[in-house]
This record gives sequence, C-alpha cells and structure tokens, in this order.
Amino acid sequence: MPTYDFHCMNCKETFTVKMTVKDMERAKLTCPKCGSENVKKRISQFNAITSKK
Ligand SMILES: [Zn+2]
Repeated sequence: MPTYDFHCMNCKETFTVKMTVKDMERAKLTCPKCGSENVKKRISQFNAITSKK
C-alpha cells in the first residue's frame, strides 16, 4: 500500500497516511493536528503507485 505524505497549509504539520489509490480519490483528508482540509499532498512512493495496475 502506498504511503502519502501531507503537509498542512494551516498549521504546517507534516503527516503520513497509508491508503490505496482508490481510497485516495475518495478520502477527504484533514490534518490530524488542527482538522484543516487545507492539506497538500506529496507523493513519497511514486513507484508503488504506478506499478499497482
Ligand atoms: Zn494542521
């Protein structure tokens, strides 16, 4: 399962979330620290995503 790194634009918190690509499309991501939806995704394992077809 790929891991995604997120950076909260609100409180500057950085957190990691493990989920499938399908979940990623549906999930509503919020910062675990402040609950803001203003988070920016950073793909950390690009190979894991592209190889999973
Ligand atoms: Zn936050």
